[in-house]
Amino acid sequence: MTYDPNNIFAKILRGEIPCDKLYEDDHVLAFADLYPKAPVHILVVPKGAYVSMDDFTANAGPEEIAALFRALGKIARDKGLDKTGYRVISNCGLNGGQEVPHLHLHLLGGKRLGRMVEAD
Ligand code: AMP
Repeated sequence: MTYDPNNIFAKILRGEIPCDKLYEDDHVLAFADLYPKAPVHILVVPKGAYVSMDDFTANAGPEEIAALFRALGKIARDKGLDKTGYRVISNCGLNGGQEVPHLHLHLLGGKRLGRMVEAD
């Protein structure tokens, strides 16, 4: 899948659409999910143009990969989620139910989150 530069997160990264920014460094932007599924629901996004976890793990450099996961942990700790636990999800492609074709990690917490995957 080729990267679509008009996806909504690309527009947020370019500053064309507002977001509730919670963290930023050279490689990563994190912002509140517009339709939160938990009391804390943060999207952690690499600034590079990666469609999905598949694209990122195949093509991103070690600095970008480290930055994404360092940022995730820092944001979780800053929110106090390390004390109570949290969940990280990255939906990838059709079976993963990915809607926005720019890699993002969902950081979810603030309550007991229940089952990881709904049974069929
Ligand atoms: P996914 O299904 O994994 O691609 O998740 C996409 C997520 O992006 C969903 O949880 C949406 O609620 C969220 N979302 C969509 N548009 C926006 C936006 N403009 N700002 C923040 N979150 C958004």
